[in-house]
Amino acid sequence: MTWSQWFVTPAITSLFFLLGVLTLYWFLTNQIIRWFKKHGRHVDAVKIRTNVGVIYMVLLNLGVQLAVNGTANSWVFINFQIFAIVFVSYFLQLNIHFWELAVAVLLFMSVNGTFAYFLSWLYAIVLVGLFYVMSVVRTHRHHSWVDYLDYTLASLAGSTILWGVIGKRLSLSTPLVLWELLFSFFILTIMYVYVDSLMSGAATLAQLTYTTNYDELTKVKNYFAFKNDFGELFQRSKITAQPLTLMLFDIDHFKHVNDTYGHLTGDYVLSHTAALISMQLQEIDPHLHLYRTGGEEFTILFNNYTTDQAKAHVQAIADGVREADFKHNGHDIHVSISVGVTQLQTADQGQLDVYRRADQSLYFSKRNGRDQVTFG
Ligand code: GH3
Ligand code: MG
Ligand code: MG
Repeated sequence: MTWSQWFVTPAITSLFFLLGVLTLYWFLTNQIIRWFKKHGRHVDAVKIRTNVGVIYMVLLNLGVQLAVNGTANSWVFINFQIFAIVFVSYFLQLNIHFWELAVAVLLFMSVNGTFAYFLSWLYAIVLVGLFYVMSVVRTHRHHSWVDYLDYTLASLAGSTILWGVIGKRLSLSTPLVLWELLFSFFILTIMYVYVDSLMSGAATLAQLTYTTNYDELTKVKNYFAFKNDFGELFQRSKITAQPLTLMLFDIDHFKHVNDTYGHLTGDYVLSHTAALISMQLQEIDPHLHLYRTGGEEFTILFNNYTTDQAKAHVQAIADGVREADFKHNGHDIHVSISVGVTQLQTADQGQLDVYRRADQSLYFSKRNGRDQVTFG
């Protein structure tokens, strides 16, 4: 046998197989996440990636097991099992109960019909051990090259024991076992580099999406998000005739807060007002969001609410701000808000028509003495 037959061909085959397995997984989870978002559902991307990842790996492993079961070289796929265990424990960081893992192992053993072999039990225990060791290694990441070293040492230790057990049980030759170990190292490294780059890409995208849509100081949605969400809800309400109410408000005499207590105290009052209202909204209706649409100006989109239905909530929010006691640097600060509320009307041509009406109501509240709500 030549070097190219021994190494290059199987290496390339497994490289593409593994990249295919990982890419298909990534594609599937992205499609699912996109589907949920498109249908306006709240999505927990991590949860989706974890759950789909586990089901995917279990099905793939079962499929592979069934395909090779009873054939002369069923041991060829041991590396795939190592790959699956490391993927689920290290990359998906699956928090799995011991009994769940035990059930999975028993399932595999029954598919393989290996209950009677001591070495098979040993193999299963090492596989479970590998799962837990990789989970622990993952929680000790330092975000440096040391991570790769820890990952490689831990996973290779696991696969050395596994290949030792398998070599003994199937009486494989030492060079063959060493050869498979080298392959195991190769597969684990590919996975590390590829999955890490996929995941850090996703993390960067999530971070960018967050900074584009959220306000740094108050942590509520910003004007950009407001414009998009309002545009979407405006169109939807036009089509479905579902009511949409806009609540626009501005903190009264905020310049006075800055001038008297300083800009930092002003920031404190802004972020705590936003937090207070966000908490209230969570209780009223978790689908409602607060947007910071200006310096000390905020907006709430009451989707699927008429002004009558929103009225009590609007009043409760204004009362909540007035009654709040913001304590900062030994000062007790009290603020109020002036509010303008309006509902989308059939004559409204665009978002601006609604916004302008709410703004006029807000200014009416201001001119009329502040700390009040005007419906228009
Ligand atoms: P009114 O009742 O008419 O709304 O009076 P006001 O003082 O609240 O309104 P004005 O528009 O005169 O002043 C708003 C102030 O809000 C001025 C600006 O410096 C301050 N402001 C805007 N953004 C921030 C911020 O992020 N932090 C702080 N501390 N102040 C801010
Ligand atoms: Mg103001
Ligand atoms: Mg203002």
